[in-house]
Amino acid sequence: MKVLVLNSGSSSIKYQLFAMPEATVLARGSVERIGEPRGEVKQRAGERETRLEEPIPDHESGLRRAMQLLTSGEGAPLSAPDEIEAVGHRVVHGGERFTETVLIDDEVLAAIEEHVALAPLHNPPNLIGIRVAREVLPRARQVAVFDTAFHQGMPPRAYLYGLPHALYEEDGIRRYGFHGTSHRYVATRAAELLGRPLEELKLITCHLGNGSSMAAIEGGRSVDTSMGLTPLEGLVMGTRCGDLDPAIVFHLARTKDLPIDALDRLLNKESGLRGLSGASNDVRELERLRAGGDPGARRALEVFTYRIRKYLGAYLAVLGGADAVVFTAGIGENSPSVRSEVLTGLAALGLELDEARNREAVGREADIAREGAPVRILVVPTDEEKLIARDSFALASAA
Ligand code: ADP
Repeated sequence: MKVLVLNSGSSSIKYQLFAMPEATVLARGSVERIGEPRGEVKQRAGERETRLEEPIPDHESGLRRAMQLLTSGEGAPLSAPDEIEAVGHRVVHGGERFTETVLIDDEVLAAIEEHVALAPLHNPPNLIGIRVAREVLPRARQVAVFDTAFHQGMPPRAYLYGLPHALYEEDGIRRYGFHGTSHRYVATRAAELLGRPLEELKLITCHLGNGSSMAAIEGGRSVDTSMGLTPLEGLVMGTRCGDLDPAIVFHLARTKDLPIDALDRLLNKESGLRGLSGASNDVRELERLRAGGDPGARRALEVFTYRIRKYLGAYLAVLGGADAVVFTAGIGENSPSVRSEVLTGLAALGLELDEARNREAVGREADIAREGAPVRILVVPTDEEKLIARDSFALASAA
């Protein structure tokens, strides 16, 4: 069965075509700068790379163009778009309604629409992706995989804020958490690497990318995670501030007369590593600058790794110890120095890094804990698309 995985953003569509059940990637590509004068379509299928610059007026023409690329030329991965039997959509916010992956029908579509208020930047483009895929690939089953779903098993003590309870009951103000597909993928993979059933394990997963979050996972269920109502809470990120005294917002509004939109931009786009360093949101660049003695880069990386360490301690307490700590995403997979700074001096908690293994583990799966240390430390490259393909295949096969 051929399964297409779609990640539809406000001005882009990213896609991967899988052959299931092997989960072989037949092609991956992207349509970018949709609606701008110079759009771009890129695709890689096996050895064949295609890159086109042309105006892409809207998402529908973008997806149609991708279908043309997938079906044209010698050795094309598809003979016709109809070969695609399922389309798996990444949907950011599923609220409390969606606790697992679902087949999309009109009622599901309406429910996703109802969650737009919770994710005003992300759910609308995800919805466009679903509508367009239904038009362009009417014979395929459409599947929604939610970033929030995996965390829906959190107990109320973890998801409630210390606010009047009516705000939860009437307005849905609570912690939802995100990156669920990534946390679930690396947890499943960690269990395979450890050779133990996921149901028996206590894991702490650290998704450290431009957006970053951590999760405490017990028996395959997320019992706490660092992001909240929105992805702004928790760790210090590329450009997001993470945890903050909420009174800072009132203070800035009063003393600087900043309107809500400017505050939103400040906390989401101008803070985090970028704001702290005054230089960059990219850890590679910050590590380079720090090596040259840049104090801003040093400061930013220190705050970043200290916050991860604090959450690690918190989640060890939440779980009552852990079998493994798992690092993933751009920074988690590729930065030995971040991992080392997070974990140094934690032997009393069972966490002992093997520095030689740590340095060698870049962009690949590895166990980087000292031989015989009680808590394993794993690097597991994330693959959200593969999990979306697997879920979509399972639901489409059962339907
Ligand atoms: P996103 O959240 O956008 O999916 P990624 O998971 O791709 O982000 O992570 C992007 C980040 O990963 C970059 O901002 C960069 O800081 C970091 N990164 C990528 N490669 C390296 C590397 N070799 N060393 C350190 N950091 C890296």
